[in-house]
Amino acid sequence: MLKITFFVVAIFVVVSDYQVQAKMQCKLPKVQIPDDWISMVDPCTKKLKSQVQEELIASMTYFAMGAHFSKDTVNRPGFAKIFFESASEEREHAIKIIGYLLMRGGLTQDISQLIRDPQPLAETWADGLSALKDALKLEAHVTRKIRDIASVCEEPGREGQDFNDYHLVDWLTGDFLTEQYEGQRDLAGKISNLGKMMDSHGALGEFLFDKKLLNGESL
Ligand code: FE
Repeated sequence: MLKITFFVVAIFVVVSDYQVQAKMQCKLPKVQIPDDWISMVDPCTKKLKSQVQEELIASMTYFAMGAHFSKDTVNRPGFAKIFFESASEEREHAIKIIGYLLMRGGLTQDISQLIRDPQPLAETWADGLSALKDALKLEAHVTRKIRDIASVCEEPGREGQDFNDYHLVDWLTGDFLTEQYEGQRDLAGKISNLGKMMDSHGALGEFLFDKKLLNGESL
């Protein structure tokens, strides 16, 4: 008797679940939205989408730096702090680009085009100086990529397109390139100061530099 009761209850649950699912299915017809407001064109759109991956690779690389300098065997909390902060900033850049693509109607396809298993460029560094130098190289690479997008998007007729995307180029040069140039100058200054401190004081120079990073001092 108990088995029969259980069987009936089980059937009731399955049927109820099926009915709920059937009711929840969206029956609204797909709305046809005019697309003449979408003005981004290839290869400009493709270039901007590929920049999301560049930003994520930069984020993962800074994340790896943060983790490396956090290890008890390395123990440079100041370096770890600035690299984790940079990792967050790069992730924000990726989100910002996705936001721009959404605003311009340029993100209607599969997002796998944007994100392809981003990996850090390295996982270990000899010292703080070599990590800062790698960071500067990485930023210079990202800067070239952004300039490349601006170049493709501003030239009417290039690669078959006939559209100068003034707004995108203005946004990239105003927001992104300014931050790139400021960041590169900051890293170059840090490399200069740390290099001098290590020349005269060796590992002690790096130790003191790390303390200043941890205190948020400008270097
Ligand atoms: Fe960035």
